[in-house]
Amino acid sequence: MDSTMYYDAIIVGGSNAGLSAGLALGRALRKVLIIDSNLPCNRQTPYSHNFLTRDGDTPEKILTVARTQLETYTTVSFITDLVTRATKDGNYFRVDTKSGKSYAAKKIIFATGIKDIMPAIKGFDKCWGISAIHCPYCHGYEFKGEKTGILANGDSGFDTGKLISNWTKDLTLYTNGSSTLTVEQTGALLQHGIKIVEKEVSELIHHHGQVQKVIFKDGSEERLSALYARLGFTQHCTIPEQLGCELTEQGYLRVDIWMKTTTPGIYACGDNTTFMRSIANAAYNGSVAGAALNMELINESFA
Ligand SMILES: Cc1cc2nc3c(=O)[nH]c(=O)nc-3n(C[C@H](O)[C@H](O)[C@H](O)COP(=O)(O)OP(=O)(O)OC[C@H]3O[C@@H](n4cnc5c(N)ncnc54)[C@H](O)[C@@H]3O)c2cc1C
Repeated sequence: MDSTMYYDAIIVGGSNAGLSAGLALGRALRKVLIIDSNLPCNRQTPYSHNFLTRDGDTPEKILTVARTQLETYTTVSFITDLVTRATKDGNYFRVDTKSGKSYAAKKIIFATGIKDIMPAIKGFDKCWGISAIHCPYCHGYEFKGEKTGILANGDSGFDTGKLISNWTKDLTLYTNGSSTLTVEQTGALLQHGIKIVEKEVSELIHHHGQVQKVIFKDGSEERLSALYARLGFTQHCTIPEQLGCELTEQGYLRVDIWMKTTTPGIYACGDNTTFMRSIANAAYNGSVAGAALNMELINESFA
């Protein structure tokens, strides 16, 4: 006998984007299962900022409040598990998990986030989200006016240098090897008092993730309070690609304005779809995905 549980929608990933999609669907009376492996990208950061009504809360608190509110919707269920496989089976998507369970749903939402690739710099991973940061709107205020570095090169280094000069004037761009800035970019940064260091970085000396010094491969060092970094990333979950969902050139899942991927019946939302990485944005486009999925189910029932 088929013991599979059937749902209107399965949401893979139950962090900011997935819970927001779940809220829209729960309020639309949909039977929804949210499956989350509990590894949100911001789990190491002590406080989240720039999210209305929750500025300065811990990432965990924000998710706990969201989940507590969602639990009042009786058609929404949660499990902690890792989705290992998803396949299209007739009109349903079948989802298998690491613990050996199977579930099926008419539609599926991937709110699975991205994985940051840590640079080969000792101590960097321990500082990530604490004093090695990705976004000035999230953490720049806390380091305003402080001795700050940027780990980037070329166009990205130039753009980040311009941006961060809004928060501090004591700024150094570490290109971590020969600069690939243009002559004009170099001139503009220097003119604004932004120093450029081409030495290769080997280590961040830190105290519980709070960077104190940057150490270079030649043995020299500089004091530092914060380091911005533009990291590479991979999709946290590659199942959408296995289901035929296209990626953009930058490596995000390609979605339309309704958060539909290029594979019918599959939606995506949150960090896996956009470089606009914030809780507010994940909550927004999760909500769009939930509403659009509900509309698709309504349209199908009228067809
Ligand atoms: C270090 C750091 C600090 C940040 N600070 C801030 C801040 O202060 N303010 C702010 O607005 N934004 C901040 N951000 C950005 C913010 O955290 C993200 O934009 C937001 O968490 C994205 O939500 P998401 O749901 O798309 O992805 P995530 O929060 O990354 O969640 C994805 C979820 O999917 C789950 N998952 C993945 N694959 C599977 C699978 N196969 N099966 C089951 N579950 C799966 C993961 O375990 C995870 O729980 C920060 C980001 C980082 C990296």
